[in-house]
Amino acid sequence: MSLRFDSTRTPDIVVIGAGLIGLAIALELIDRGAQVTVVDRGQSLGGASTAAAGMLAAADPGNPPELQELSRLSAERYPAFLGRLEALSGIAVPFQTNTTVQYLEDGSTVRLAEHSLDPRQLAAALRAAVNATSIRLLEHTQIAAADQNSGGATIRLNGGTAINAQAVVYAAGAWTSEVMAALDNDPISVTPCKGQMLRVRLPFPLDEVHRSERIYICPRTRGPQAGTALIGATVENAGFDMSVHGVDLDALRALAAKLIPELASEAEAPMVESWAGLRPATPDKLPILGACSRPGQFIATGHYRNGILQAPGTALVMADVLEGKAPCIDISALSPLRFACSVTG
Ligand SMILES: Cc1cc2nc3c(=O)[nH]c(=O)nc-3n(C[C@H](O)[C@H](O)[C@H](O)COP(=O)(O)OP(=O)(O)OC[C@H]3O[C@@H](n4cnc5c(N)ncnc54)[C@H](O)[C@@H]3O)c2cc1C
Repeated sequence: MSLRFDSTRTPDIVVIGAGLIGLAIALELIDRGAQVTVVDRGQSLGGASTAAAGMLAAADPGNPPELQELSRLSAERYPAFLGRLEALSGIAVPFQTNTTVQYLEDGSTVRLAEHSLDPRQLAAALRAAVNATSIRLLEHTQIAAADQNSGGATIRLNGGTAINAQAVVYAAGAWTSEVMAALDNDPISVTPCKGQMLRVRLPFPLDEVHRSERIYICPRTRGPQAGTALIGATVENAGFDMSVHGVDLDALRALAAKLIPELASEAEAPMVESWAGLRPATPDKLPILGACSRPGQFIATGHYRNGILQAPGTALVMADVLEGKAPCIDISALSPLRFACSVTG
């Protein structure tokens, strides 16, 4: 499907979900001349996007091969993405680390040229950037219905307001299936994957991520969290439960201590805070990016453990798809049509 952005229509596009993925897409779309409204039932960036560690783990040997191109594109685009946010918001988001020490199965290590950033700093810059643009951000707003029509869709908000849109992009993270089902779309298969994490004060300076297949230690070197490190994360099938359990944090700390023994004790590395977040997971652990078979309906979700990394690339390819252009990378393996996306009118 091809959209000709026409600024006389308000808005061209409604994005459902103001996480990093939805807002990155919105920014890319307005740069291409679209009018965009983003609707979130809660606060923007209150979901997985601020629960994440912030590793831009494009070189993680555990990544599926189908993710390589999107990850490479996103890692390459990151400096320009952060530059755009800074130009709009005046807020610079620094990389916290530039190297990851990856522990391999055979006990050896490799050093990977990878960055990490603080997702809370990213969220502050992104919110301010969005506010500096024409994007209409409706927070704490429930959608009551999405009625498809020949010109696109009419989104009806609780309270009665109706928004006519040429296209709707579903980007509600772990809640995307729920939203699509509630709006009478055939549900696609996105489930929450819970991750618990803790942040500890470091007993000595650390400026590299340490990561094995089971655990990572992600230090903060700049900003308000400097001198601390995140230890994460659990990978749990626990529905929408967000509770944090001491026993799980202890298990994470014990795994981290296998890489850096000084992290074993609360006395040497006291805990500063802990939390849980919900990753959007799909059955094949790959994102869902592209057009549904219902005209004017698009999906961008399922980024699972790599959504911070993959936001800039996702924004580019989704904007291309919405404009009816061939994306600069092959995203056929990520098509919504590989699952039960709507096939009826
Ligand atoms: C513990 C943890 C660690 C992680 N670490 C990393 C990492 O180091 N590197 C990395 O790249 N990725 C990491 N991730 C993954 C990354 O956080 C996610 O892939 C990414 O944030 C997903 O972004 P999103 O915008 O799709 O979802 P979210 O950020 O969850 O946003 C979804 C939005 O949709 C809204 N919404 C829900 N229902 C509705 C509705 N009915 N109507 C309107 N809006 C709705 C929500 O309120 C929310 O704001 C981690 C995730 C977790 C949980």
